[in-house]
Amino acid sequence: MPFDLQTGLNERARQGLLRQRQILQSGQGRHIELNGRRYINFSSNDYLGLAAQPFLTKAWQDGLARWGAGSGASPLVTGYTEAHAELEQTLAEWLNVESVLLFSTGFSANQAIIKALLQKEHIQYQDRLNHASLQEAGAQSPAKMLRFRHNDMAHLASLLQPHSGLIISEGVFSMDGDQAPCQQLADLAKQSGNWLMLDDAHGIGVLGEQGRGTLSHQGVASDSVHIRMATFGKALGVAGAFVGGSRQLTDYLLNFSRDYVYSTHMPPAQAYAISAAIAWVKQADEERAHLQSLIRQFRDGITGLGLAAAESSTAIQPLIIGDADKAVSVANKLRERGLWVTAIRPPTVPKGTARLRITLTTAHQSSDISLLLNALKECVTDV
Ligand SMILES: *Cc1c(COP(=O)(O)O)cnc(C)c1O
Repeated sequence: MPFDLQTGLNERARQGLLRQRQILQSGQGRHIELNGRRYINFSSNDYLGLAAQPFLTKAWQDGLARWGAGSGASPLVTGYTEAHAELEQTLAEWLNVESVLLFSTGFSANQAIIKALLQKEHIQYQDRLNHASLQEAGAQSPAKMLRFRHNDMAHLASLLQPHSGLIISEGVFSMDGDQAPCQQLADLAKQSGNWLMLDDAHGIGVLGEQGRGTLSHQGVASDSVHIRMATFGKALGVAGAFVGGSRQLTDYLLNFSRDYVYSTHMPPAQAYAISAAIAWVKQADEERAHLQSLIRQFRDGITGLGLAAAESSTAIQPLIIGDADKAVSVANKLRERGLWVTAIRPPTVPKGTARLRITLTTAHQSSDISLLLNALKECVTDV
């Protein structure tokens, strides 16, 4: 046998870290159904409650009626339609970037950028807590990878070599909910003659004017970031991703990125639905204010319980438990009370920082947060 799979699985099981999927009997929303039971859903990235919105389903159906089910080919063959071009245009105007390319997943968008751009002579500077898709691409790239301590600009500055490559960070960090200091990143990139890439998967739609994301929220000029990337599977309620930047950048990627060139384009109906989601997101200030009020309620409640609220003003509100088994045990107790919260364990997060990754969405009501706080009070203290 060339592959000893069982040993790896046994090792994971022995560490209590074996992963399993759960089959949902419902779509996303305030509630989810699993194992014949209904839970309040505190684990979704559908921050604006869009995934189940009838207008969005309808838009996708309209797109299907107009374009059919599949795109039929990669974008350079016959897979690039007006629906895709319009979405690119919408994104470029909304986010104030010159040009945009669409990808089927954020994971592949990140592979595309890093693998197409970075060569042996380059250096990539990655925040230690960057998403697995960034670190994975980075590890496979021939460029040297230097990882700086999370959001530590002095550490980054000490590593930077002039004109050597790409600084890569997230706008909002996926497991911590905190934000990168984008202006400082931009300044360091400029001073050192390097490029800056920002993955804003968790900022887009949620933060900033018209939901434009972390840069807008922090008042950082959009042209101070060379490469923008974000996904459509979180606050935008659908799936897929884009890369944005100069026309030269997107021309380069569509010529040199194998992840772009050799992959079937996302279905045009999906692009059409995402355009509808963006039109809605732009005007959703009331929903974003509702989300912020839930976040405040949750954070005040956590502090009131004598627990440490995370340094996060976003929809991601991790509660650090520390020990992986304990985090799982708390999550199980919450489930007994009808609350679905996911325990996140190493290797997804650093050792000793296992946590409940609690996500709040506009689909929640204030009473849901109260229920969660009451349950946490009992479950966190009694294990
Ligand atoms: C979810 C996520 C991705 C991957 O996007 P998918 O569309 O889910 O493949 C990339 N980066 C970050 C920061 C993410 O949170």
